[in-house]
Amino acid sequence: MEEVLPYRAVATPPRTRLSDSIAEQLEQLIVDGTLAPGHALPGERVLAQKFGVSRPSLREALLRLEARGLLKVARGGGFAVTDVTAPTITDPLVHLLQRHAHAEEDVIELRHGLEVLAAQHAAARATRADRATLKRRFEALAAPRARRDALEVAQADAEFHLAVAEASHNVALIHVMHGLHNLLRTSMRHVWEMLYADPARVRELSEQHRALLKAVLAGDAQAAGEAAHRHLQYVRECVHARAPAKAKRPKRAASAG
Ligand SMILES: [Zn+2]
Repeated sequence: MEEVLPYRAVATPPRTRLSDSIAEQLEQLIVDGTLAPGHALPGERVLAQKFGVSRPSLREALLRLEARGLLKVARGGGFAVTDVTAPTITDPLVHLLQRHAHAEEDVIELRHGLEVLAAQHAAARATRADRATLKRRFEALAAPRARRDALEVAQADAEFHLAVAEASHNVALIHVMHGLHNLLRTSMRHVWEMLYADPARVRELSEQHRALLKAVLAGDAQAAGEAAHRHLQYVRECVHARAPAKAKRPKRAASAG
């Protein structure tokens, strides 16, 4: 008698569609952090040429990634990489931050931990392109310019830190850091407004950024982590000093003990 086995015939897998391969390649670029949140893709004509595919195949791939929430339609009509984690971490937090100053300090405390991690990984993983971006953004931040407004400096500061995060090639880290920086935009502007009146502190921050850049470029993970730690420690002290006394965090049981 023939034995009944739990196996079924295997169907020949359908041929992979071109648009699947395109979507896969784009997803890979997002997941390894090459295409960071907010990154605008080139126009369809240019992109189709680079992939060596027809525009309808490309369009199908783009629409599929949009449907999955990885891409969104950017201003001007093209596609840009979505900030994947940002909406989930920002919406409830924005509300808390507006009402409780110490919640803002908690966000910076989180940023502190993540920046140390980002700097360590960036030192170990930065590509040549990452290094070039880091240098460019550092120069943009350090460039002494008269009549520079605090918002512009805060923006350049964020761009530099995001370049470090992007060089970590950890997609979770990159997206969370983008979310945090969006969240902190207003508070960093206020910090820079306060600091700008004090050239010694501006120099101090500039030296901290330089030390971070140098360690990452040298591939020294430990020094990079330490530089990020010193910088965020300083930023936290600045933000804390700014917070009105009554808004400061109530002592927690552990530290009061
Ligand atoms: Zn900074």
